[in-house]
Amino acid sequence: MMKTLLTIVAAAALPLCAAAQDAHSINPASITIVIHGGAGALAPGRYTAEEEAAFRAKLTQALDAGYAILEAGGSSLDAISAAIVLMEDAPMFNAGKGAVFTHEGKNELDASIMDGATRNAGAITGVTRVKNPIKLAREVMENSPHVMFAGEGADQFAKEHGLETVKRKYFYTDHRWRAYKEALAKEKNKDENKEESALPHDFKYGTVGALALDLDGNLAAGTSTGGMTLKRYGRVGDAPIIGAGTFADNNSCAVSSTGWGEYFMRLTIARDICAQVEYAGKNVTDAANDVIHNRLRNLGGDGGVIVLGPDGDYAMTFNSAGMFRGVKNASEEWVAIYGE
Ligand code: ASP
Repeated sequence: MMKTLLTIVAAAALPLCAAAQDAHSINPASITIVIHGGAGALAPGRYTAEEEAAFRAKLTQALDAGYAILEAGGSSLDAISAAIVLMEDAPMFNAGKGAVFTHEGKNELDASIMDGATRNAGAITGVTRVKNPIKLAREVMENSPHVMFAGEGADQFAKEHGLETVKRKYFYTDHRWRAYKEALAKEKNKDENKEESALPHDFKYGTVGALALDLDGNLAAGTSTGGMTLKRYGRVGDAPIIGAGTFADNNSCAVSSTGWGEYFMRLTIARDICAQVEYAGKNVTDAANDVIHNRLRNLGGDGGVIVLGPDGDYAMTFNSAGMFRGVKNASEEWVAIYGE
């Protein structure tokens, strides 16, 4: 780690001079990437040693890819995109390949991205053929006058803008199909009237998200997911909703959420955390603790958030048993799965 730090400080000599003229530039030691790979019923022992190692290796790879971009002076948007694409391509996460199945046995993907410098945002929901939904969300943000596209329209926009598309079966994985079949069987045994509220507790979530702070002092946030197993009727979760699943503003913080989406939408979790930072002067940890451990818990929801402030201060807060997560900055790099 010290070696990394020295490299950054050495490489930082020039940007530091530039910082004198640019009010937005930050101390290079503050560049940071924070990621999550979903929160849920992740108690120790849930995975085999090999599975755990695979999760940790993929989280580390995503952190390293994003951080390398930041270290080279790249933008926070590029850093989070690189990290999220790696996790979307990894079948172990519920985003891109490996997404969960809807009630009809399909994969419908949601994603959103936000630029903290401009508060520009892009989001897509219910796409079925775009290999990397986060790239599509970014394309919507950067090359359309709109913020959000849904379903067929989003897929059509992707095609017209040259994004890589795949056959629907690309998203299929055996483990998600098995989980889908088990969920269907479980649902049959439940009281019809209770099924909607009873289901989510049984499933590990697996959304992915990333936040970054770059050398120019710009924050960015992104989130990508397959949603929740057995979701019905074109259900839209929090992940593509700006202010619920994703938010970024250089004046307050960046947030990416994961958990029971309906609660995150009702509480506009991501925006609420940043509003507490902006209006109440809280630090990111206190703001996240209030929203997750008071407001979300009191309403009956579960899940977690990653939060990053414009000074590199970060929080990873969840009220579920665990959350796949990791951080890399000049002084630390670590990943974790359980509530340790
Ligand atoms: N929040 C996502 C949703 O409700 C699920 C997740 O985080 O895994 O769609």
